[in-house]
Amino acid sequence: MNYQLEMENIINNLSTRPKLLLHACCGVCSSYVLEYLNEYFDITVLFYNPNIYPKTEYYKRLNTQKEIIDKLKFNVKLLEIAYNHNNFLEISKDYENEIEGGKRCEECFYIRLKQTAELAKEKNYDYFCTTLSVSPYKNSEKLNEIGKILEKEYGVKYLYSDFKKKNGYLRSLELSKKYNLYRQDYCGCEFSLKTLSKI
Ligand code: SF4
Repeated sequence: MNYQLEMENIINNLSTRPKLLLHACCGVCSSYVLEYLNEYFDITVLFYNPNIYPKTEYYKRLNTQKEIIDKLKFNVKLLEIAYNHNNFLEISKDYENEIEGGKRCEECFYIRLKQTAELAKEKNYDYFCTTLSVSPYKNSEKLNEIGKILEKEYGVKYLYSDFKKKNGYLRSLELSKKYNLYRQDYCGCEFSLKTLSKI
C-alpha cells in the first residue's frame, strides 16, 4: 500500500485546516514533516519518547525539537510528556535481544502512537500522526497498521504517511544542515546505542 498517496488523498479532500497532533521522534525527522504539513494543518508537536537513553540524550533531542520549531517560524505549538524511561523498559523487557525492526521496535512505535491518539482524543484534535515514517529504517507498513488500529480505538482520524517518499528523508538531512541541528547516530534506546543502529 502506498501511504504517501493515502495521505495525499486525505489532504486533497480537506475543506478546512484541521488540528493535527503530530508525534515527533526528533527535531531532524520533524523538520521535513513540519515543512510539508504546515501548509494544510494547524500542528501541535507532541514530544513523547520514553525510549530515548540516556537522559542527557533525551534533553539534547528535546532541545533540538524546540530549536527547529523556532527556526522554521511556523505557528506550531509543542507539548512534551515528561521523560519516564521506565515506560519503555516495561514494554521492552522481553525483547532486549531483538534486532532493530523487530518486536521491540513495534512495541516502541505502539506506546508512542497510543499516547498520541489518547491525547488527540482528550484534546479534540481532528487527526493524529507521527514523523517516524520519514526514516528509511522504520517500517511504514507497521506504523500505519498501528495508526489504523488506534484510529478505531480512539475515534480520532489517523493521518497515514510514508514521509520518506518524495525524498522526505533527504530533505530532513538538508534542513538539519541548513539549521545546524544536532543529529544523533543511533535510534534512541540503550539497545540501539550498543550497535549504533539506524535512526
Ligand atoms: S531501536 Fe529505536 S524504534 Fe527500536 S526500540 Fe529502540 S528506540 Fe525504539
